[in-house]
Amino acid sequence: MRGMYIHIPFCHQICHYCDFNKVFFKNQPVDEYIESIGTELSIMANTGYSFKELETVFLGGGTPTSLSELQLERLLEIIHEYVDVRALKEFSTEANPDELTRGKLAVLKSGGVDRLSIGVQSFDEQLLKRIGRTHSADDPAKVIRNAREVGFENISIDLIYGLPEQTIQQWEDTLDKALSLELPHYSGYSLIVEPKTVFYNLMNKGKLPLPGEDIEAEMFDMLINRMDKAGRLQYEISNFATLGNESIHNLIYWDNDEYAGIGAGAHGYVKGKRYANYGPLKKYMESMEDGSRPVMEEHEVTETEAMEEEMFLGLRKLAGVSVHSFETKFGKSLNNVYGDVLKELSGKGLIFESEGSIKLTGKGVFRGNEVFQQFLK
Ligand code: SF4
Repeated sequence: MRGMYIHIPFCHQICHYCDFNKVFFKNQPVDEYIESIGTELSIMANTGYSFKELETVFLGGGTPTSLSELQLERLLEIIHEYVDVRALKEFSTEANPDELTRGKLAVLKSGGVDRLSIGVQSFDEQLLKRIGRTHSADDPAKVIRNAREVGFENISIDLIYGLPEQTIQQWEDTLDKALSLELPHYSGYSLIVEPKTVFYNLMNKGKLPLPGEDIEAEMFDMLINRMDKAGRLQYEISNFATLGNESIHNLIYWDNDEYAGIGAGAHGYVKGKRYANYGPLKKYMESMEDGSRPVMEEHEVTETEAMEEEMFLGLRKLAGVSVHSFETKFGKSLNNVYGDVLKELSGKGLIFESEGSIKLTGKGVFRGNEVFQQFLK
């Protein structure tokens, strides 16, 4: 496995658009949960899984920064027991701007974390309230200043567009403010209204005035252009970075390589099998009492599935899918397996071949889902 994802499912607030596996922090067995992460790592280490080749560790959630300094210290101590953190190429954590205190930044830094992915979403005060965020529009700049003082350089922020009643002008202002921070990496996602969220309920009641597809496409176009002008290259549909600052961990997913998923509800891909851990905290913790992994479901990835994944994950990268790598990995020519699909998609102007790779065209980037679906049987 090349990467390790560790899920911290706690949040001090629940955002209106969020469908991740998370719970309110209050009254949760947080300390016990952190110890359970250690138990899962120890079970894996004792049953033939090696963390020696790891290139990345990624703390995600939920919000890892919802933990106290002491809890973060303990979590990092546990990770150090199993992972040679100094040998990693990247050790990231997700963070919320109003939780990333100087104290926590120092704990993260001394624990070997070298990349911050901060959930900013918008620089518009009204929109932040509307989507259920608790930080203010000024918090990110302060936090990033503090983070730089503590020694973090590799910092990314997440932004969301297509928010309720968001105007093009508001999105442009957010992009201006984001770029004025001169970060090496930015992610920009369109809002997706998922079931079981506050937004989903509002939508069903006709009370979620979204900007509509055309405006959303204009916002995406603006994102791409503004990032390009600022020298942040679009290396994946929603991700932009200066050269050499692409997220190594996320590239592992898009390269269809293996990674461990640790924690409640985490998904992983190891030894040719994709698996999902139990989501509810209690179930996750109790399922390890007999010394077994907390895996709820697991399945061997068939060759057909692996080829499909190689295509729809790989095409998310603007570098595309290498024809040669595909052949080396599967012993089959890309053309023999997907010749008809490739022909159809290139006929529609959605993909093209260049430098030995199949890539999305500019038009294909906007219609990614239509392209990816073609590779699913
Ligand atoms: S978006 Fe992040 S902070 Fe908000 S509820 Fe979801 S996991 Fe928690």
